[in-house]
Amino acid sequence: MTTITVAKGDGIGPEIMDATLSIIQAAGASLIIEEIEVGEKVYLSGNTSGIAKESWDIIRKNKIFLKAPITTPQGGGYKSLNVTTRKFLGLYSNVRPCMSLHPFVKTKHPQMDIVIIRENEEDLYAGIEHQQTDEVVQCLKLISRPGCEKIVRYAFEYARAYNRKKVTCFTKDNIMKQTDGLFHRVFDEIAKEYPDIENEHWIIDIGAAKMADTPEAFDVIVMPNLYGDVLSDVAAQITGSVGLAGSANIGEQCAMFEAIHGSAPRRAGQNVANPSGLLQGAIMMLNHIGQTAVAEKVHNAWLKTIEDGTHTYDIYKEGVSKKMLGTKEFAKAIIDNLGKQPNVLKPVSYANGKTLNLPKYQRKLSAKKELIGVDVFVHWGGSDPNVLAGIVQKINTKDVTLSMITNRGIKVWPEGFPETFCTDHWRCRFKQTEGMAMNKDHIIQLLSAASQAGIDAIKTENLYSFDGKPAFSLGQGQ
Ligand code: NAD
Repeated sequence: MTTITVAKGDGIGPEIMDATLSIIQAAGASLIIEEIEVGEKVYLSGNTSGIAKESWDIIRKNKIFLKAPITTPQGGGYKSLNVTTRKFLGLYSNVRPCMSLHPFVKTKHPQMDIVIIRENEEDLYAGIEHQQTDEVVQCLKLISRPGCEKIVRYAFEYARAYNRKKVTCFTKDNIMKQTDGLFHRVFDEIAKEYPDIENEHWIIDIGAAKMADTPEAFDVIVMPNLYGDVLSDVAAQITGSVGLAGSANIGEQCAMFEAIHGSAPRRAGQNVANPSGLLQGAIMMLNHIGQTAVAEKVHNAWLKTIEDGTHTYDIYKEGVSKKMLGTKEFAKAIIDNLGKQPNVLKPVSYANGKTLNLPKYQRKLSAKKELIGVDVFVHWGGSDPNVLAGIVQKINTKDVTLSMITNRGIKVWPEGFPETFCTDHWRCRFKQTEGMAMNKDHIIQLLSAASQAGIDAIKTENLYSFDGKPAFSLGQGQ
């Protein structure tokens, strides 16, 4: 018996949750259900996070959360409950199986059967943004070694547990050599621990194009947060319907399961919504808590029901479907099919599956870290980099000297191109003089001199080497 937290959400949420719970309970799921209220009512009561403190306590106590979609009211100030839940509970892994149901649901990709595993906590979603000059804003892309190790290991363990043959990694490390470079490096390191599973890496742009065109070339795909956010929707859509996909958000201690669609308020209260997406989430939940035989029984009954042509309005197609059913009747049809297998679609087999049990992240020994320079970012409204170099060189000391200026990453001094378009946001790179050992006091002196010279230094980034290897980007064109 597992106690789970359930939130019925808004719009079509209560109907699809009732349908889902009725199916999994009829299949023998051994659950104690504790219900909480999240979403629209809580938001509109003045709580901008959409969830009360007592509800957090219940979610944290039970650790397993099955959540129906919620409505986030329009207007400012309301925070996304999904993003908050993922981050607060450390739900680092977002898992979205995307399988086509050809010929019963129309798709251009009849053979498609992929699982997208998206890193869920970091990357640009750290949400650290600043305006620094009149013309330039920035968002920090943070990628960590634990973040990469946890998600990549999860992808390989998932592949092993679910009999998948290949894990593919998508990054843009030809451009982002530090951030995406780390993700790719960790992927290569961890792939070696799984010689039974094929591994490959694609640059995200061509990888995404290939996935949209020939999804059958992929099996499990692991990627950083932003790419995963976009591509998991693309993958779900090209199976034929986003309305059929579920999603799991897995952490070391807690996990949340849901449909990928929203609360479809226009369809609420009419007994027409398709409960399949949430049911897929519930199937992943049953697998996660070890009730794998029930998960298998529910999944196969659902496949059989789709195959029978008994469909809700959203996937109903003249000529393919046989009968249009409401939410409750569709749930009843699945319950009637419990114990049956699909004939045309491939039945799933989870019954002998293991639950994933990942090792805890182990921090590595620290590398030898040396300060070797500093990038001072400057707000300057001029246009000629040679003029700026003349101003900034005045603050050179015997220990640190200006070595380069870039604008939006491209080197403009020395020897820039007059054709390069420049904004008011300049990176002035200072390097330690040959033979000098630089320290933080040199940076303080530099900033103090900049302030006295009227230079508007908006931020600094220290340049380090780790174990003797410079660990920062060069100027493009350098
Ligand atoms: P939506 O996914 O709710 O609806 C998009 C379209 O798909 C609509 O035409 C809808 O009728 C249809 N649809 C969606 N799910 C369906 C189902 N199960 N059965 C039949 N038809 C279905 O997206 P939206 O309209 O952009 O958003 C509505 C609300 O949902 C917004 O408040 C949004 O913030 C919220 N939302 C919540 C979540 C979540 O809680 N996880 C996710 C996305 C959107």
